[in-house]
Amino acid sequence: MDLYKHASDDALEAYILRTLPEMEVAPFEMHVLVCPLCLVRLAETVEFVTAMRAAAAEFERERDVPGFRADKGSAASPDGQLSLKNRD
Ligand SMILES: [Zn+2]
Repeated sequence: MDLYKHASDDALEAYILRTLPEMEVAPFEMHVLVCPLCLVRLAETVEFVTAMRAAAAEFERERDVPGFRADKGSAASPDGQLSLKNRD
């Protein structure tokens, strides 16, 4: 990837999603470091991806997952507990 070539939208998204080929990551980061335009675009793409993930998570939560509360007649589970905390 040419250092002076702006990152494509696909590259920005792939970088955030960690699907950008490893050999392209370093040139990409070097370009973003010296290119305010792509830095802004990267930040915007991060916001977009984050919003998409939040929307997807919301959708998953609202959808009644089969088996999730199989043994509970009343759905009185405490809300607002992020399952992310269970990681690690
Ligand atoms: Zn650029």
